[in-house]
Amino acid sequence: MTGILYLCATPIGNLDDMTFRAVKVLREVDFIAAEDTRRTRKLLTHFEIHTPLVRYDEFSKNQSGEKIISSLLAGKNIACVSDAGLPAISDPGADLVRLAVDAGIKVCPIPGANAALSALICSGLDTARFAFAGFLPKTAKNRRELLKNLSMREETLIFYEAPHRLKKTLQELAENLGNRKITLARELTKVHEEFLRGEIFTLLENLEEPQGEFVIVVEGLKGGEKIETPAENFIGAYKNLIADGFDKKSAMREVAKKFNVSRREIYNALLKEEII
Ligand code: SAM
Repeated sequence: MTGILYLCATPIGNLDDMTFRAVKVLREVDFIAAEDTRRTRKLLTHFEIHTPLVRYDEFSKNQSGEKIISSLLAGKNIACVSDAGLPAISDPGADLVRLAVDAGIKVCPIPGANAALSALICSGLDTARFAFAGFLPKTAKNRRELLKNLSMREETLIFYEAPHRLKKTLQELAENLGNRKITLARELTKVHEEFLRGEIFTLLENLEEPQGEFVIVVEGLKGGEKIETPAENFIGAYKNLIADGFDKKSAMREVAKKFNVSRREIYNALLKEEII
């Protein structure tokens, strides 16, 4: 019998967010694969869990992943935990899950704290439809491309960001998506938890040296909203629609409708870039 891979949530700040089930599973599994063994050890000590730990992080994941899968195939039950929150959300746990699924191993969620959803539900923005974008790509080109695509989305958008890059990212969001309404969720579940709400530029003006952990929740594209840097956005949107199978005329009509501008304006932008 193969073992089970448990994906076990851990608190994102407040230790009281640890679930009874997480403690039980972490006590009962054969070992725990942890992204940061030092941090997880502290958590285990707090909850009097004595299960052995193995390292599974960005650097060790290839070697460690194979060993974990072999152990699962040999019948061991293993829990995967990340630094904090849900494993496999913006951390290497996702790769382990893929390996396990490919090997036909059962994966089982042990739900709990998660920064993205905690930020979303307190944002005051639309929670009916949302898209999780996680951390933006590292290269400027990839970031621009992604943001161009996201600029057309009507769902609320959720981003993770490190404090030292927060201001730059907000600037880029404003440039690519327009000066939208956002909520910055800071230090969720911790002593200094706060929610900063407003338009991007207003928040940027008042943000000094950002400290702590942040989730950025951004309002989706509003029907009829006119975005700044229009030509770039028109072109990105047009190309996406063409890639989705729209003919040129319908794609132009759709883009014009979305951005609330004339088809002539779209046509001129595409002509200028020699796209049509
Ligand atoms: N797996 C985690 C989860 O389920 O939320 C996310 C891990 S990701 C590597 C770390 C990022 O999550 C941080 O850079 C920050 O954007 C966000 N984050 C984690 N804990 C947070 C907290 N307490 N308050 C605000 N943001 C947090």
